[in-house]
Amino acid sequence: MSARDIIMRSGTSELTPAAQARHAVAPVAKLFDATKCTGCKGCQVACSEWNDLRAPVGTFQGSYQNPMELSSECWTLMQFHEVMDDDKFSWNFTHTACMHCGDPSCLKACSTAGAIIKRADGTVDFDADKCIGCGYCVTACPFDVPKLSPVDHKAYKCTMCADRLAAGMEPSCVKTCVTGALKFGTKEDMLFTAQQRIKQLHAEGHTKAGIYDPAGVNGTGMIMILKDITKPEEYGLPKDPQVSTPNTLKQDWIKPLGAAGILGLAAVAVIHRIAVGRNVVEEEESSSDKADKE
Ligand code: SF4
Ligand code: SF4
Repeated sequence: MSARDIIMRSGTSELTPAAQARHAVAPVAKLFDATKCTGCKGCQVACSEWNDLRAPVGTFQGSYQNPMELSSECWTLMQFHEVMDDDKFSWNFTHTACMHCGDPSCLKACSTAGAIIKRADGTVDFDADKCIGCGYCVTACPFDVPKLSPVDHKAYKCTMCADRLAAGMEPSCVKTCVTGALKFGTKEDMLFTAQQRIKQLHAEGHTKAGIYDPAGVNGTGMIMILKDITKPEEYGLPKDPQVSTPNTLKQDWIKPLGAAGILGLAAVAVIHRIAVGRNVVEEEESSSDKADKE
């Protein structure tokens, strides 16, 4: 992936991405099948190992989940949700990490040029060198994903293993998962695989099984198969996540209009120069010049 593959950049007013970026790369996606996950946490450990992250050990909070939430040192977290289904206890496991939104709220909220980018393959990445630690992305994310580091006060989250993808490899969490709960490929292929699995689950009697790929954020780069799609809250997921309206207005309308306005003013200045020429200020004749003429 090169800089030409960036299609969105925070804090800028770019009107359209390069044609190469728009057309040459297929969007990718990670598929998490909650019905196959055993909660082994292999993915959580693999993420920590590959990205050299060390979350504090913490204390027991009455749950197998540890730590209790994502942090700048924990980019992938297995959530353990306890649910009662027809008076039977069961676990809902959720592989929690950045969803790589089609329309990323974090990027739209960020005012710092290039601190958050979206690539043509759909992945959303943060650049700590450019981040100023304002925390706008933290409050804007509908999935509560990015976190500020208490050490350098920059925002961090899952990159979808951008370095591995650039080398033609799959994300480390997917590589590790032994149950087949995690898969990686083009978004088109992952959606097809998910649809096949849903047909199988329905045939087995799990008629509420469905695909979590919320339209309110223009779909996600991590799609999920849930046993009951009517209750994503039971997996710790928002039912109808949205990109906030002020951020959409700022990034999609006000900034491009501002850029178009500046271009328009420049065009008017050039046309005026060609058509009318340079402005000439005529000096007033001095009283002595007038007297000489008389
Ligand atoms: S899940 Fe949050 S951090 Fe990830 S792309 Fe979406 S808005 Fe940004
Ligand atoms: S490695 Fe696979 S089975 Fe284990 S917790 Fe992660 S998604 Fe679930």
